[in-house]
Amino acid sequence: MQAKYSDIERLEQLIRRLAPLFGPSGAEDQVRAAVIDLVKPLAHEVTVDALGSVIALRRGTGGAGAKKVMIAAHMDEIGIMVTHIDDDGFLRFAPVGGVGPATLLGQQVVFEDGTVGSIGIEKVDGPKDIQMDKLFIDIGATSRAEAEKAVRIGSSATYLRDVARSGRRLIGKAMDDRAGCAVAVETLHQLKADPSPHDVYFVFTVQEEVGLRGARTAAYAIEPDVAIAVDVTATGDTPKGERLNMKLGGGAAIKVKDASLIAHGGVRELLVQCAADEGIPYQMEVLPYGGTDAGAVHLTRSGVPSGVVSIPTRYLHTPAEMVDLGDAAAAADLLTAVLRRDLTLTAGA
Ligand SMILES: [Zn+2]
Repeated sequence: MQAKYSDIERLEQLIRRLAPLFGPSGAEDQVRAAVIDLVKPLAHEVTVDALGSVIALRRGTGGAGAKKVMIAAHMDEIGIMVTHIDDDGFLRFAPVGGVGPATLLGQQVVFEDGTVGSIGIEKVDGPKDIQMDKLFIDIGATSRAEAEKAVRIGSSATYLRDVARSGRRLIGKAMDDRAGCAVAVETLHQLKADPSPHDVYFVFTVQEEVGLRGARTAAYAIEPDVAIAVDVTATGDTPKGERLNMKLGGGAAIKVKDASLIAHGGVRELLVQCAADEGIPYQMEVLPYGGTDAGAVHLTRSGVPSGVVSIPTRYLHTPAEMVDLGDAAAAADLLTAVLRRDLTLTAGA
């Protein structure tokens, strides 16, 4: 496996460090601490905004055509949140973001303080009855009082899962979007080694999975000239899967459209041209649903030309999301290369 610029080993270590961390939307503290640790030696300025997003500024060398660029990757992941505790200590819950009840069944989940539970289900007639309101978390407590020593109403949990490697693929929870965070950190390494003319604001956002919220406020504060989100996208390369163009191992995906955004034509073509010129593997992405931080960023103030570099991912929003390391490296290569270019946009939206 080769990459044009990226250090693939470092990239793998970054994903392995970030993906297992606890960080459902609104409870990103552990991810934020790790991200600050990683970006501090690489950025000129690191700040945390009022909602909790991390903003790491890498100043450019300047000159004519130098722009203010925002790169966004979200720190949060899907999860579940306790809504009720019964007398026997069983916990009912609501989803945080797009969680499927069938993917929860049989899983181990973990709370912020390390408390672990199993997901159980009431007696049901068949798989079609696997609904969220039939499921509960069992943390091994025998009474409400005992359960309340560890959790309370509003405590959130996520899958308990480490990252595994199989061939050139990594499997685990929260590749969405810790793989994107890792790509952003790797890009920051590359820009430190060989600078960009542009001031690049790497934003590690909060609350993407519940409505692209952290990206909205960060973009308002930064007022970027151009923005690129880095996030995962679905693929169409599994048995009887959806008909989608994206596949694992096909390179970085350059988004044309999803349900939150039609990528700015100038940004999209800049990415395509850059990938083609540099020999970075890429594929075009049209996703008929879903959204990324770019969906919020492009509507900020009077509008921000925005695009997305995606990492194709199988089994999205399950505890076994799968990414190809070569694709992640291609995404970091593409971001690195495009950030060193003239970002004057010629094509329109
Ligand atoms: Zn995502």
